[in-house]
Amino acid sequence: MKVAVIGAGIAGLASAFSLKRRGVDVEVFEAADRPGGVLGTIERDGFLLETAAVGFLLREPTMLELIDVLGLRERLRSADPTAKHRFVYTRGALHAVPSSPPALLKSDVVPLSTKLRMAAELFSPRGHAEDESLGSFARRHVGAHATSILVDAVQTGIYAGDVERLSVHATFPQMVELERRHRSLLLGMMREGRSMKAAAAARAAKGLSGVLTTFDRGMQVLVDALASALGPRLRLRTRVRRLSRTAEGWRVLVADAWGPTAPPSGTAGERANDSALRFVADDGSARATELKVDHVIVATPAPVASELLASVDPLLAQELSSIPYAPIAAVHVGFRSLPNPPTGFGFLVPSAEQRGILGALYVSSFFPHRAPPGATLFTVMVGGAKHPERVALDDAALEALVLKELEAILGVRQPPDFVQAIRWHPGLPQYEVGHLARMARIDAALKQHPGLHLAGNPYRGVSVLDCVKAAAALSL
Ligand SMILES: Cc1cc2nc3c(=O)[nH]c(=O)nc-3n(C[C@H](O)[C@H](O)[C@H](O)COP(=O)(O)OP(=O)(O)OC[C@H]3O[C@@H](n4cnc5c(N)ncnc54)[C@H](O)[C@@H]3O)c2cc1C
Repeated sequence: MKVAVIGAGIAGLASAFSLKRRGVDVEVFEAADRPGGVLGTIERDGFLLETAAVGFLLREPTMLELIDVLGLRERLRSADPTAKHRFVYTRGALHAVPSSPPALLKSDVVPLSTKLRMAAELFSPRGHAEDESLGSFARRHVGAHATSILVDAVQTGIYAGDVERLSVHATFPQMVELERRHRSLLLGMMREGRSMKAAAAARAAKGLSGVLTTFDRGMQVLVDALASALGPRLRLRTRVRRLSRTAEGWRVLVADAWGPTAPPSGTAGERANDSALRFVADDGSARATELKVDHVIVATPAPVASELLASVDPLLAQELSSIPYAPIAAVHVGFRSLPNPPTGFGFLVPSAEQRGILGALYVSSFFPHRAPPGATLFTVMVGGAKHPERVALDDAALEALVLKELEAILGVRQPPDFVQAIRWHPGLPQYEVGHLARMARIDAALKQHPGLHLAGNPYRGVSVLDCVKAAAALSL
């Protein structure tokens, strides 16, 4: 059996590696000149700057298994315990986020009237909608103010989305399940608290701390280990242009992404010596080759998957192109020496506060190895579903915006030693109301095309863990 994986983001890499371990003949095509997709680490003057995910929660057995198979356990780095301290910006200041319902009573994050409304959660009715926005679900349980401050901040940290558009069923299914079983989320947590704690303890005994984790040289370590395990099965600078069905399986048209001015070593023409590849065309700017495979795993962003499948199944392509995205920028701000840097995980800014940023991570506080000793690194998030236009700001304007907000929120007036912005288009997929119904239609369409599979963050989970878990569960 021969399999082509399109896209070497974490989803494509982990899928290909999982298949290779099962003895499948797999080949990965990546348009860029480096693997990892959005995931990666830039080393700059002793700082480690993540291009996307800052880390992952070590709580999935499949992730630990992958880490062990790749021999990376010694290279894991857990977040400092100060990462427990998280903040929300509201009413003109940062407030600590309480870690439990009893802690909320003592906290000043929301006024007394909001706390009383949140306590009334015990009497919340069940919802009956098949799909519902996160905002509507949360208002039923904790009221309008807690939704616009606390729930909005939580989703911003994961989706950079809009509470009124995100589907609670697709983004927080565990909350919907808790409501289904117990009506009230508080009641559910009280009833299931003991078994949740026991499950966490059982995971911890297996090395699954549940703590935010990365590697000694950042997330790049995982990308590099997967890429080197795939070896020549991973082809960089190789863009897939088109997919088509044949009587026996699939035909993948690939082209070198380099023009004649920058020919890479081992062009597609030379690689055509590989018996599986058939030389098709040479238009002067790109060499195209065609590959016949039994299965194809499309692990690109959904808009690209849509283009590749447009001639195979226009309706499926339309479903894929209608998955919304939110552009986002990660802006790294480094200081060699900043007096009294803040400690903790960082803060999130609810959209109701109408500030210029989504939040900031105190990276050097919870991952000290990612900055030189005594230095401070912040990663500030900008853009998201509500302010995509900010991601289009030029470097100078983005830097000015971020520094103004760090001064207003954290009181940081000192000029930084560097600012580096990383912008992502299309950005983070948004699982809006209707996402699960769309996924059901996509699944039904895939059934009509044996051998065609979709992988990656547009579908069933945006986190690195979700992508790795789905790769391990892949069945062809
Ligand atoms: C700023 C930011 C912060 C994040 N923070 C976290 C976090 O802290 N924790 C967490 O778990 N997750 C986080 N995420 C989410 C997570 O990093 C991503 O969801 C995940 O890495 C996406 O992986 P993917 O493989 O699905 O897609 P991608 O990384 O987008 O990979 C797709 C690949 O397909 C390639 N490609 C596209 N077209 C073609 C073509 N025609 N032919 C060949 N190749 C093609 C692309 O070049 C790319 O390499 C964050 C994301 C962002 C953007």
